[in-house]
Amino acid sequence: MELLEERIRRDGVVKSEGVLKVDSFLNHQLDIDLFDAMGAEFKRLFADVPVTKILTIEASGIGIACVVARHFGVPVVFAKKAQSINLDGEMYTTRIQSFTHGRIYDVIVSKKFLGPTDHVLIIDDFLANGCALNGLIELVDEAGATVEGIGIAVEKGFQPGGAELRARGYRLESLAIVESMDPDTGEVVFR
Ligand code: 5GP
Repeated sequence: MELLEERIRRDGVVKSEGVLKVDSFLNHQLDIDLFDAMGAEFKRLFADVPVTKILTIEASGIGIACVVARHFGVPVVFAKKAQSINLDGEMYTTRIQSFTHGRIYDVIVSKKFLGPTDHVLIIDDFLANGCALNGLIELVDEAGATVEGIGIAVEKGFQPGGAELRARGYRLESLAIVESMDPDTGEVVFR
């Protein structure tokens, strides 16, 4: 998506650890006009897909997911990072390793909000190693729901998550795929 690529070139900051900082428009200060254009693009890309729920993970996926959900006319459910897991059977649970913090989080979704009749579009801001998405897929599987597709704002194509998910047969659409990025020059090359 040209608009997003241009914005990353202009305002993205390449950090040395393979991290792209986009906090001025994507995950701290949020450019809602850009989000709206991304929502419209996801709607176009997944026009043929039955979607009953958008699923994301807190915190940085929530903003994009809400705008995407507006285009699909369905609710957003976000997986919560839990301090402790209450094993009362009311929650779907999994564990996710955070790319940016290295920590492992327990994440939960209430059984009230996801079930076997749901058709789920998973949305997140970034795809790196795929840990966040694998966790979200596990939660959908636990619910007996169907993963209809995965929509990502920025995929880092030089990290393995995207290739692995496509190889497993998931319909994965990324609006910008970064082929390489150079922390010294700040140059970002898109696929
Ligand atoms: P994964 O689980 O695929 O390894 O990493 C995806 C998650 O880590 C996303 O939810 C995102 O919050 C965070 N993340 C991964 N790479 C980056 C990055 O380059 N920049 C930022 N801002 N977040 C990232």
